[in-house]
Amino acid sequence: MTLAGLILPVTGATLWTATQMVVGFVGALFVGARLLPGLERSGYPRPDGATKEYKLTGMTLFFVVHIAAFVLVFGFGVSLTPIVRHFWSLFAVANALAILISLALYATGPKKRGVLRDLWLGADLNPTWLGVDLKMFMYQPSLIGVNLVVVSFASAQRDLYGTLTPQMGCLLGFWWAYLFTHYVKEEFMLSTWDVIAEEFGMMLVWGDLVYVPFLYSLPCWWVVDQTVPFSLWQSVGLSLLCFASLSLFRQANWQKERFKRTPNATIWGKKPELVGGRLLASGWWGVGRKLNYTGEVGVYICFALTAGVGHPWPYLLPLSLIVLLAQRAARDDRRCFAKYGEAWTTYCARARFRMIPFLY
Ligand code: NDP
Repeated sequence: MTLAGLILPVTGATLWTATQMVVGFVGALFVGARLLPGLERSGYPRPDGATKEYKLTGMTLFFVVHIAAFVLVFGFGVSLTPIVRHFWSLFAVANALAILISLALYATGPKKRGVLRDLWLGADLNPTWLGVDLKMFMYQPSLIGVNLVVVSFASAQRDLYGTLTPQMGCLLGFWWAYLFTHYVKEEFMLSTWDVIAEEFGMMLVWGDLVYVPFLYSLPCWWVVDQTVPFSLWQSVGLSLLCFASLSLFRQANWQKERFKRTPNATIWGKKPELVGGRLLASGWWGVGRKLNYTGEVGVYICFALTAGVGHPWPYLLPLSLIVLLAQRAARDDRRCFAKYGEAWTTYCARARFRMIPFLY
């Protein structure tokens, strides 16, 4: 039997099981976010000038879910394969939950720009339920959710073939490293545009509950049934590429975030160089203007490469990210020029390329 034979069709019974799984998972995370300890951090000033205080519980939840999964799997013999088996029912239920939460946000939020726009884009910057900031909270079912989906594909491979291939090991390791480095500096999220300026509506809710867990795990579908294992050199080579991309992605983001919070903090052991007093031209920001994007695309290419090069579908995500981020880089250049004027032109002469030296 292959993976396809393991996947259950959508029926009333599978939908009911999937509903219990999704509601149980998201509900447990919500209770955890409400009750467990977290880092107290101040957000960046919002468009209205106000600053919000956050309790960041992502790392706590990430580890609590690890411990719970470990105890269930190794202590009680629970299998994670049912997540993959119910994939399409979970997908349907996650969509339904995203719609329900969006409707509840609309019903309880302010009315600003008409039903459809308020529903899709949101009308409230920081909706809070029972003291939990929903925008920050929703990253947890999203990211911990995609991790569980990836692990369940690995569990399915072990059930089907009695082993884990090196490429499956790579995929698990890459995802874990990506998520761990996210949670280690969870406060970085407070500096992103989504958190500072985007209102919370169906677009973000759907992205968190459906797009990330179900689309980002796409390469798994082609890794499970690959019976020819990667050679040691393929595994080592790909791991080095992933490590380099992830380091570039995280370091660039962390350097800028640290600079914004503590402008005098050293970068690569030296005092930061500035252009026009406000633009960082040290570290990766002295090499290129959007190397954080390059690093992120590199990580997604590595996820896809674990599935080999025989199928186009695993590359859907890195390709869409290249298009999205290349456009975003150009838009951000224009935004920064409008904000910083001549200083931005001087900075562009210093860090000449956006994402790829000599090309873009
Ligand atoms: P950046 O983190 O690059 O932030 C851009 C902003 O940073 C600019 O508008 C400017 O804002 C400031 N800035 C730019 N250059 C400098 C400089 N040299 N010195 C000081 N400030 C500077 O971009 P995003 O917010 O778009 O992305 C954040 C992260 O999220 C990235 O790592 C990206 O890869 C990731 N991302 C992922 C997506 C996905 O779908 N997976 C989608 C979008 C982003 P100001 O000065 O006003 O603060």
